[in-house]
Amino acid sequence: MATIVSINTTKLIPKDDAVANAAIFEGNHPIVGDRVIEGDGTSQEAWQNWVGLQDLTQLEITKSFTPYQRVCIFAPHPDDEVLGCGGLLQQLAANGNPIVLIHVTNGTQSHPNSQIYSQESLNIIRPQESVKALEVLGVANQVTTMALNLADGNVFAQQDQFHQELSAIIQPEDILITTFINDGHPDHEATGQVVASFAKQQHLACYQVLIWAWHWAKPGDSRIPWHCAMRVN
Ligand SMILES: [Zn+2]
Repeated sequence: MATIVSINTTKLIPKDDAVANAAIFEGNHPIVGDRVIEGDGTSQEAWQNWVGLQDLTQLEITKSFTPYQRVCIFAPHPDDEVLGCGGLLQQLAANGNPIVLIHVTNGTQSHPNSQIYSQESLNIIRPQESVKALEVLGVANQVTTMALNLADGNVFAQQDQFHQELSAIIQPEDILITTFINDGHPDHEATGQVVASFAKQQHLACYQVLIWAWHWAKPGDSRIPWHCAMRVN
């Protein structure tokens, strides 16, 4: 099951100066604040036992996604599409929606000190793994993948370029799916905020998916806007 959040508001995107200023607030990460990814995180069992998830409104794919509508899924790193909304991908494919998967970065910073995986090899391996995962999900033939090739770990600093890329890719009736604007990883937050902001500007439907939030948040966590979240069974 995945939970997706539909929010109509966006927050200000940190620019370099704002990030530097924010860093003076003790104990908070300069970009993600108190949404820090550390330790083992909240267990799958804890989430599954939380009745609040069952109470969420169910997203009805056939009503919210007209089959002819193109769905553009933004993954900050190759794998976020599967971790965030693998089940939704399958349901959209079954519903007949054309799907475009956009890898914002190629995830080359995932093993920074590795003697085995260089940035050059990760630049090839991680997109290949995404293709394999789409094959396992049975949707590979219905998904067109694109790569924006922004620098992994630094999406906030490339938001203007990102916005320009969106203007070239997005069509008037597209539905956008992106990471939660407060997901806790700087690239995930940057991707969520740039895409959500673009969607608001262009009056497009936009859904945000939780990925790292499952790790740092607790059931019922007030930092997640559960009142506008929906579940996908
Ligand atoms: Zn990621």
